[in-house]
Amino acid sequence: MEELTELTISEAHKGLKDRSFSAVELTKAYLEKIKEKNKEIFSFLAVTADLALSQAEKADSLILQKKEIPILTGIPCSIKDNILVEGLSCTAGSKMLKNYTAPYDATAVKKLKSQNAVILGKTNLDEFALGSSTENSAFGPAKNPHDLTRVPGGSSGGSAAAVASHSSVFALGSDTGGSIREPASFCGVVGLKPTYGAVSRYGLIAFASSLDQIGPLARTAEDCRLIFDAIKGKDEMDSTSVKAENFVRSKSKPLKDLVIGIPKEYFVEGISLEVEKIIKKAIKKYEEMGANIKEISLPHTKYALACYYIIAPSEVSANLARFDGIKYGFSSEAESLLDVYSRSREKGFGPEVKRRIMLGTYALSSGYYEAYYLRAQKIRTLLKQDFEKAFNHDGVDVIFAPVSPFLPFKIGEKIEDPILMYLVDIYTVSVNLAGLPALSLPVDKAGNLPVGLQIIGNAFEENKILEVGKSYENN
Ligand code: GLN
Repeated sequence: MEELTELTISEAHKGLKDRSFSAVELTKAYLEKIKEKNKEIFSFLAVTADLALSQAEKADSLILQKKEIPILTGIPCSIKDNILVEGLSCTAGSKMLKNYTAPYDATAVKKLKSQNAVILGKTNLDEFALGSSTENSAFGPAKNPHDLTRVPGGSSGGSAAAVASHSSVFALGSDTGGSIREPASFCGVVGLKPTYGAVSRYGLIAFASSLDQIGPLARTAEDCRLIFDAIKGKDEMDSTSVKAENFVRSKSKPLKDLVIGIPKEYFVEGISLEVEKIIKKAIKKYEEMGANIKEISLPHTKYALACYYIIAPSEVSANLARFDGIKYGFSSEAESLLDVYSRSREKGFGPEVKRRIMLGTYALSSGYYEAYYLRAQKIRTLLKQDFEKAFNHDGVDVIFAPVSPFLPFKIGEKIEDPILMYLVDIYTVSVNLAGLPALSLPVDKAGNLPVGLQIIGNAFEENKILEVGKSYENN
């Protein structure tokens, strides 16, 4: 039943309720698809067919019993392999956690399970979510379903490729500096990075705790809304989580009243011509649909990447200190305790993880802390103020930007040069540093390669950016 793997969440929900097909049939159709696609795309590190089928059976019996079922009941999804699902292995794409089994559910997963969603498997990622291409996965890279010689983006490349190859209705990813939006853009799916605090981080293997957020990747903006509604909210297990509704200042608007800010600093040297052309065409289309376009300035943009690549490695050096060969995962034999620590870390971590730990440890070390970390934190405040000025003083409702300056690149093209790889994140990191929500919306293709438009919103205005995304899809 090929067509079953084409459905959106609402369509699949309707089909399940009408009994046009069962959750077991839907799940089997996806498991078939995974069997066919995963060999070449490698979007899944683990396929959990038994769990999925038992969840689908349960969903079917609920559908038979009740008239009203939650929207995600019986909907097959996949989970990035740095998010814990009780009883399943959780590798974070690292040899360090190859044999680690999650002892509990992440809150976002618990919420999906409470709606009886069906979990198909765990998706491939850059090791500990450090990367922009999935090439840092210790188990091998995922591939872009639109061109198998190219990367699917990262670090949630497996999640994006799973949705794009119709191997999953939707997926959860995590975004610390662009890891939901960039793979969504490269694979031609919709990805939402929520406001910091909107979704609980409990059960997400920490990368940079002040930047990390879990969010959805799906086929449409409406699907992203349904998933976001299911996973958001205050959680007593994460003290940074909040009840988003308490903070929303303004409601969605019709396009004719909408002011779209275009930051002039985002369209300068460095962006590829193909990407620029497609983003400008999308902006024009919004203008034709009635929206108001306003040029704005985010003057500290040029410092964003440097700021991010001090703060994120600093936090990762602290967060990954727990992987010492004693508490979790891989442990190397050695003569002394100190040797256990150093050998386990030397063998368990890949090159990018080691690079970041060294960068972070250096930036936090006595004598350098003031020059690097403290300074980066001050710039972070300035970046946040740039956005506050745009939303609160210049009166823009949303900000449009590219997601990535480049088209999906070839596997191997940037992996040997970390700085080149870091440049991919130029348009996405500011949003994390400022804690804002942003959507990656597929707007066009250059040849067969998808390009996403980034729609950035004010804090807790996910609904507004999703509505803006929907108006493009409906046009
Ligand atoms: N590419 C960025 C990095 O490597 C962002 C990763 C992410 O968002 N997890 O740090």
